[in-house]
Amino acid sequence: MQIRHDWTRDEIRGIYHLPLPELIFRAQVAHREFHRPDEVQLCRLLSIKTGGCPEDCAYCSQSAHYKTGVARQELMNPTEVLDAAKRAKAEGATRFCMGAAWRQVTDGKDFDRVLEMVRGVAALDLEVCCTLGMLTESQAQRLKDAGLSAYNHNLDTSPEFYGEIVSTRVYDDRLQTIAHVRKAGITVCCGGILGMGETDEDRISLLEQLARLTPHPESVPINSLVPNEGTPLGGAEELDPLVMVRTIATARILMPASRVRLAAGRRGLSQEAVTLCFLAGANSIFTGEKLLTTPNPGADADHRLLETLGMRAMQNA
Ligand code: SF4
Repeated sequence: MQIRHDWTRDEIRGIYHLPLPELIFRAQVAHREFHRPDEVQLCRLLSIKTGGCPEDCAYCSQSAHYKTGVARQELMNPTEVLDAAKRAKAEGATRFCMGAAWRQVTDGKDFDRVLEMVRGVAALDLEVCCTLGMLTESQAQRLKDAGLSAYNHNLDTSPEFYGEIVSTRVYDDRLQTIAHVRKAGITVCCGGILGMGETDEDRISLLEQLARLTPHPESVPINSLVPNEGTPLGGAEELDPLVMVRTIATARILMPASRVRLAAGRRGLSQEAVTLCFLAGANSIFTGEKLLTTPNPGADADHRLLETLGMRAMQNA
């Protein structure tokens, strides 16, 4: 199977709207060419600096624009972060992600502490990922030199719908940070969030943006909105789990070599829906009780589910 970056909107629309059994079958064919069908990567995400973010992302409990009850916390100290990374590794995680609620990285004491965390986690032989907001080229290079394997920066939704979700930055800002990350030789983790009131066409447009990135993001997180009280999307309608399945399967077909991550919102899915997401080509999940500030199934529940399905956690980062 050839990896393509020239997918057209019509082709993607045609795939997304296939009858579900056909869509899942094609996703499985793509999946099996590049990945073991019985393996799922376990990742852990830790909020190293919580709340008080100046951005106004309508889904986010950490935005300073909304009253959500998330308490603001300063940057954690590197020793605590390393302890959390060691625990995550002991529970089977091979990737450790650190998230800070910043609009952008600012050079100085806090960034130096993040670099120290990256060096420490990389020394544990874990894939190390950060999500810190916008980055300059030189900051991306310093993260790379510290041992960063991946940088998460989501496109969130389609360019057409983006203005409904965020007003404090534009789509091109996202694309620029992704370009800086690429230039530094760090792998890209980039996906979106479903269930924010977007249409099928928005989801198709987001997938088109992702699938036309050259190279593709090595990791594609597909999140389902977890409505947070106090945010503009706090009362959003529940997403049909089959929309998640369709989006994951389409992502798998368009970006067959990437890891597709079933990310936030997994706790709202039944075991059967999660199983369908695996069949559709998801091969990475976040484990641990919390995803930044939202609840997530615990590591024990995940291990039990994999065992029930006869699947296993990926061993090597
Ligand atoms: S999603 Fe990130 S950038 Fe947006 S408000 Fe939340 S922490 Fe800030």
